[in-house]
Amino acid sequence: MTRTYLIKPVLDYKYPAITHGDGIYLYDEKGKQYIDGSSGAVTASIGHGVQEVIDAMAEQSKKVSFVYRSQFTTESAEQLAKKISEISPGDLNWSFFVNSGSEATETAMKIAIQYWQEKGMKTKNKIISRWMSYHGITMGALSMSGHIQRRERFEPMLENYPSLSAPYYYRDADQRTIEECDDFYAQELEKEILRIGKDHIAAFIAEPMVGAAGGALTPSDGYFQKMKAVCDRYDILFIADEVMTGVGRTGKMFAMEHFNVIPDIIATGKGMSAGYTPMAAAIVSEKVMEPILKGSKIVMSGHTFSANPQSAATCLAVLNYIEKNNVVENSAVNGAYLKEKIRELAEASEIIGDVRGKGLFVGVEFVKDKLTKNSFDRALDVVSRIVQANFEEGLLVYPANAGTDGLIGDAVILSPPLTITKEEVDELVRRFAVALRKVERELSK
Ligand code: PLP
Repeated sequence: MTRTYLIKPVLDYKYPAITHGDGIYLYDEKGKQYIDGSSGAVTASIGHGVQEVIDAMAEQSKKVSFVYRSQFTTESAEQLAKKISEISPGDLNWSFFVNSGSEATETAMKIAIQYWQEKGMKTKNKIISRWMSYHGITMGALSMSGHIQRRERFEPMLENYPSLSAPYYYRDADQRTIEECDDFYAQELEKEILRIGKDHIAAFIAEPMVGAAGGALTPSDGYFQKMKAVCDRYDILFIADEVMTGVGRTGKMFAMEHFNVIPDIIATGKGMSAGYTPMAAAIVSEKVMEPILKGSKIVMSGHTFSANPQSAATCLAVLNYIEKNNVVENSAVNGAYLKEKIRELAEASEIIGDVRGKGLFVGVEFVKDKLTKNSFDRALDVVSRIVQANFEEGLLVYPANAGTDGLIGDAVILSPPLTITKEEVDELVRRFAVALRKVERELSK
């Protein structure tokens, strides 16, 4: 066997090599077919091998692939920013392009801090975030992340920004109504603001629906309105981390549209490029840009590849494809169908405790006992078993346990390409059901 020179996530695991993709399917070197039921890391949202996107990439590379943003602008970057302003809610009109979701949230954080600096409030430089959250792997983004496993090794170098609960009604609403839970979450935010002091806080950041650290935790219709009201009362910006939920994933262009709250800044990535190129963005409101435009006129962030024309043309082609083919609507319709089918499975299953989510962002939480909602022993590693059993059945699902000592359940996310058809959903559910029964049998031994 030839040695590898590639550092992979798990170094002693032999990853199958993928040779090609087509629509919702991936094929490995042995010819095995997989349904990309997770869109990779909730990314390949228009499926694989879309010809229009490939053509746009080729066209742009014939013109120019790279220019440096400190020297030139390009038509494709300008057009992409315009398109994003058209599809974004409210006055979120300005885009800062980066290369990953981590850079998008970290840039959003820096822009929020800079906003207050430009207004003469230099002490407003801390962020408030929630436990059960993931905002990225770079130090600033990890400082905001409430993902214990991913923080652990770097804890001494990180800021302690996470302090709040995420809305987790499956467990929190046992003794309280959802409204009482929401009041509790908003009070937590208020207490934290009072503890730190409003003059020291730039922004509150939250994922509209928690992905990797929770498994599509879905807030009530009123949750974000209550949280935003607290932010407004104390002059704190609100950053929505839509890296996972943005660009149609939840059945709306941006998930915050479900909750009728317009953030001051949105961080997005993943589905914005659908995996065809590494690109992400901090989308900034007129309100936040105003003092910067009047003041230093510089946003102090950026990367060599920011706004490169090759990636911009690619993302533009992805967004045009989404619009032309009613992809967001398909996410809403076939997402509702997928959730209904998984709920049917859950009724007959002994280990599915909760099915949640919106659009094609469906979280499935597994429990040892559906009545008590007790989680499985960590040593059983139920999430890995589920992922592996599905893998064997030819279905990719996204693992989503945050591993905080059994406080959080074992979950996976089903998030196939937003272009999936009803018949393909049926096949996905069939494979998921086979894998589920296999794990149920293993666990009952
Ligand atoms: N924010 C959220 C909500 C995410 O889900 C992720 C990645 O999973 C990130 C940020 C980080 O994005 P990236 O992995 O592209 O750096």
